[in-house]
Amino acid sequence: MDQDCLFCRIIAGEIPSSKVYEDEYVFAFRDINPQAPVHILVVPKKHICCACGINENNSLYVAKCFEAIAKIAKQEGLMNGFRVINNCGEDGGQTVMHLHFHLIGGVKLSEKIL
Ligand code: 5GP
Ligand code: ZN
Repeated sequence: MDQDCLFCRIIAGEIPSSKVYEDEYVFAFRDINPQAPVHILVVPKKHICCACGINENNSLYVAKCFEAIAKIAKQEGLMNGFRVINNCGEDGGQTVMHLHFHLIGGVKLSEKIL
């Protein structure tokens, strides 16, 4: 755990969040500033700074995030589809330096984002 990291502190319960899912590897909670009816942040419980920090020692956490995404999408009723976004680094628009995946859905999303 990184004491200076917002998401590490949310995972530790030091900062409250609206939790939707948790297991040994993953913590997921609703984004404080939702961009769609469903906007959930799916976060590895290990502090990994960003997509550039993924390596052979921690990639299991990434796999577990995507297993969780499939479960959460079902839980949230997103049977018609959804989008998963990762912002990496300054040019990617990342503002919290703890790897996270935005799970976005509940509406027909614009095809223009990607
Ligand atoms: P990024 O821009 O790094 O990809 O995404 C960070 C996300 O974290 C943003 O969508 C922002 O709204 C969300 N966020 C920032 N601070 C908090 C917080 O304290 N609680 C929650 N639930 N979300 C937060
Ligand atoms: Zn962290």
